[in-house]
Amino acid sequence: MNQYPFTYSKGPCIICDESKEDGVRINHHFICAHCEKEMIHLPISANSYSYFVQKLKKLSC
Ligand SMILES: [Zn+2]
Repeated sequence: MNQYPFTYSKGPCIICDESKEDGVRINHHFICAHCEKEMIHLPISANSYSYFVQKLKKLSC
């Protein structure tokens, strides 16, 4: 099983733009627990993965 090197923190989610208390921080970007679950439930391949990667790229500009 994958061990995600994420640390738990608070912040506005980069996926849904809502401030949540539960979630993970990836490269200084916060993803709430809800969106994190979607990431985990969806296969990390093709569409779902690139969707989140594009979200991350958008914020790193
Ligand atoms: Zn979210």
